[in-house]
Amino acid sequence: MVKKRAGSKTKATDKKGKKSRWEHLKQILLKERERIMKLVDLAAQEENSFDSGVEDEVGQAESSFEREILFELSDKEKTLLENINRALRKIDEGNYGACESCGEKITDKRMEALPHTRYCMKCASLYDRG
Ligand SMILES: [Zn+2]
Repeated sequence: MVKKRAGSKTKATDKKGKKSRWEHLKQILLKERERIMKLVDLAAQEENSFDSGVEDEVGQAESSFEREILFELSDKEKTLLENINRALRKIDEGNYGACESCGEKITDKRMEALPHTRYCMKCASLYDRG
């Protein structure tokens, strides 16, 4: 995979504005992740009360506990969580806001609405996903 350099065209002032916008979106992403993690906690509590009494399977269950809990989440939430983590990583790496498919800049409007999105509007409609 060849990475495009987006360097020369970017003005310093634009970069600064972009960074504070990212910071804002990062907060939204962190909040959203927290919300999903709370769902995970709830699922864990249910699991605990449900499982009381089955002793011989407890040791085994504990090692794969987190994994099990993730299965409690719906596919939609799992995907969302993955995308949020990915977006947060991209913010740290500094390549946030670019479409993973075509490399085009994702519009601010779309980033605000879907801060975890991986694709620009055009590619998202092609793949039929956020
Ligand atoms: Zn694209």
